[in-house]
Order: sequence, then structure tokens, then C-alpha cells
Amino acid sequence: MVTEQRADFINPEVVESILTARAVPIASRVRELLAKARELEGLSMEEVACLSFVESPELLEEIFSTARQIKEEIYGSRLVFFAPLYISNRCSNECTYCAFRATNTELKRRTLTLEEIAEETRILIRQGHKRVLVVAGEALPPRGFQYILDAIHTIYETREGAGEIRRINVNLAPQTVERFRQLKSAGIGTFQLFQETYHRPTYAAVHLRGRKRDYDWRATAFDRAMEAGIDDVGMGLLFGLYDWRFEVLSMMQHIHHLEERFGVGPHTISFPRIEPAVGSDIASHPPFAVGNSDFKKMIAILRLAVPYTGMIMSTRETAAVRRETFALGISQISAGSRTDPGGYKDGEGDPQGSQFQLGDHRSVEEVVNDVVSLGYTPSFCTACYRLGRTGQDFMDLAKPGEIKYHCQPNALSTFLEYLCDYAGPGAKSAGEKLISIELQRMDRQQAACTVPMLNQVRRGERDVFV
Ligand code: SAM
Ligand code: SF4
Repeated sequence: MVTEQRADFINPEVVESILTARAVPIASRVRELLAKARELEGLSMEEVACLSFVESPELLEEIFSTARQIKEEIYGSRLVFFAPLYISNRCSNECTYCAFRATNTELKRRTLTLEEIAEETRILIRQGHKRVLVVAGEALPPRGFQYILDAIHTIYETREGAGEIRRINVNLAPQTVERFRQLKSAGIGTFQLFQETYHRPTYAAVHLRGRKRDYDWRATAFDRAMEAGIDDVGMGLLFGLYDWRFEVLSMMQHIHHLEERFGVGPHTISFPRIEPAVGSDIASHPPFAVGNSDFKKMIAILRLAVPYTGMIMSTRETAAVRRETFALGISQISAGSRTDPGGYKDGEGDPQGSQFQLGDHRSVEEVVNDVVSLGYTPSFCTACYRLGRTGQDFMDLAKPGEIKYHCQPNALSTFLEYLCDYAGPGAKSAGEKLISIELQRMDRQQAACTVPMLNQVRRGERDVFV
């Protein structure tokens, strides 16, 4: 197949020259950059590179506390919950780090039927989820792309008690503009796609077969998605394949390209680190493994660099690492995840069918309780996308003043919905306490908007949002 566009906006020479110049992170310069970041106007590639070389514990702590401050200012105490829904682990590509790669004979293959997808959806609804991320390998069943569209339709149609899934994001292969249009018509929220690595030689070395070998087809996927009218795209990198500094700066070039061409950058950024996977050597011995301290530094720096972009932390990471990153800028988390198709029904999840090993095995309720004990508000909100607040409109709304009157009330009303419909007695009382603390922290105008919404939920109304 012919690649229509080359990803020339990724310029490795520029990235390498910034990294080779290796700006010395002297304290006065670092503090100047932190002051700039507090203005919420982001940072340049050179500035990100400078902060990435900070090693002094004292300056690192200042980076972390600035990230915390920005996170608090823009996102308040909210953490949005979602669950991945793996519908198929059949794949025609050969990504050496992934258990789903085509020639892996150790993996049990499975493509869910629509009834099985509905069954998985009902389980997720019973856990309290309102938002799912549909994930699939890249070998489709005979009816092809229609299978994906049918899966999305099935999930939206499925009801369980008073609950339903209100937002479906997808992590799928790059598509043509026409297919992106079909995904948009099917009602997807975010189209998520990880470039894995922006370093072309590494990309070629780890993608051995199939359509995914084409770096440019993948790197230009967001251009096609946005051309098709999908405003919310989710970027990510697979950390461990190549030098993290190179990757982060290249990702910034990608972000700048989207901002220049479409006026808006990515809706979210994800931070998957390579985890062990059945039938993959590289997954157990990543060549550029990122340690916890660099991982935290990188997350904090990105919070400063792209303050309004949502940042996602999956259950690849352990509970302890996840907890630390919440304060550094993470705004969305998955919980109770399975990465094998049918894994929610099967209970424990089958390692022989899973994409990779999970770090956090706790149930949704356990994660909710933990998050509440740390003072965060679990949010099951899906309002923005359903009110058409996507792309630039979302970014405008994300300015701190505005968000207070939308996101925080919506977080509390959807959390209360969760407490009423799905939580056990312990979670309920801790959650109610958190809601009253959050109400006390609100100004009069905010509380005046939120209290009636909470009363509506208590009276039995559902899906109450502004
Ligand atoms: N097949 C599509 C693709 O590759 O873009 C979408 C689904 S794929 C299952 C989703 C993501 O899982 C990949 O983009 C990759 O970053 C991540 N992944 C693959 N193997 C992994 C591993 N061993 N550890 C952590 N994440 C992994
Ligand atoms: Fe297939 Fe995606 Fe896994 Fe690659 S990462 S083998 S494309 S499922």
C-alpha cells in the first residue's frame, strides 16, 4: 500500500542537536522555567530538554511540586476512570514486544462475538464504569472493519440495570480518512494510537511484519483522523524501546505539528512502559528501560510542557507507582483491567491470552477506595464529548476558571451515582465524606451549581451533568 504523507514534522536532527547541546540545568534557569510553567503556557523543546537533565534532588522536588500545583489548578482533585475492553487478540503484525504478534504460537487467540462483547460490557457496567477503551489486534474477522463498527454499536446499546457505557474511546490500527469518518459516525470519543518509538531505526527493528512496519502511515494517522473530524486524539509512546528524552522531544514535534495544522494538540498522552509479555524476549529485557525516577520526572515535565492535555496512567504500573504519579499530573486512570479478550467474564484474566502482564490487579472498588483515601475524587464523567466540547472547545474550557463550573460538579455527580449504584457500605461512607469535603472547598457559585445536581442524583435521576 502507498503511504500518502511522510511524517516530516518529526525531525530527528533537530531533536538530536537539542540533546547534544545538553543545556546545563543550573538552578536559576530551572527556576525560571518553573515560573514560566506556572503561567500555564507550556514549554519549548529546549526547555523540556533542560529540565530532563535535572538530577539534583532539591530541583527535582521543585519540578514535582510545580507539576502538583498545575495539576491541582487545572484538574482539581479529579481522576477520571475508564476500563479497556479487548475485543480481539488476533494480529497480522509482528511487533516484537507484544504477545499478540502474528507468529506468537504461545498465545491463545480469541475474537469476541458481539454477544460476548455485550457480556463484557455488562460486567464493566456492573463495576461502575461509564467509559471504555476498545482495543484490538490488527487482523480483523471476515466482515472486516464492519466488525469494529458493530462492536462499538453493541457496547453503546448494552444496558445493565440503570447503567450504560457513555463514552467509547478506541485504540486501534491507523485508518484511512474514510474509515475515520465511519468511526466518528459510530460515536467514538478519542482515537488513541501510540507511535511506540519516533526513532526510525528502532521502529524498523521492532516492527518486523505487516502494515505497522510503515512508520509514516502510523505517524500521520492523527492527521487523517483530524481531517475526518475526530477532534480528540490520544498520543503515546512505548517506553523502553529507545532513549526517553529523544522520544519525548519527538512527541513534542508531533504535538506542535497538530497544533499548527489543526489548531489543537492531543486530547491525551499515555505513558506505557514495556511490561513482560508471553512469547516476547524484548518485553522482559527492554533495551532502554526507564527507571521509576526518570518515569516520574518525565510525567512531571510533560505536565508543565502541555498543561491542558489529559495524561493517562494504565494498570501496567503497580499501585505504588500509580499513586505517586497522580500528584504529578495524571488525570485519567484505568482500573480493574484485563488485557485478554473475554477477560472480565473469565474473572482472573488468562495470562496466555493477555497482551502483557499487569502491575495493578486491584478491583475497581479497591482503586476507588484508594483514590478517595488519597483525597482524589473518582470521576465517571463523560459530559464534554457528549456536549460536543472536543478539540479546541475542550482546550478553551480547560482553562482553570471554566473547568471549576463543569468538571468538578460533573465529577461529584457521577461519583455519587457510582456510590448509589455500585459501591459497598465502606466505600459509600468514605465517598460521601469526600463529597462533603469537596463541597465545602467550593466557592458559592460552584456549590450553587453542584448541590442541586447531587440532589437530583439522590432522587434517582441519572446522567446528570453540565
Ligand atoms: N494493535 C493496535 C496497535 O498496535 O496500535 C492497537 C492495540 S495495541 C494492543 C495497544 C498498545 O499496546 C500498543 O500501541 C503498544 O504500545 C502497547 N503494548 C504492546 N505490547 C506491550 C507490552 N509488552 N507492554 C506494554 N504495552 C504494550
Ligand atoms: Fe498487533 Fe498492536 Fe500488538 Fe503490534 S502492538 S502485535 S499491532 S496488537
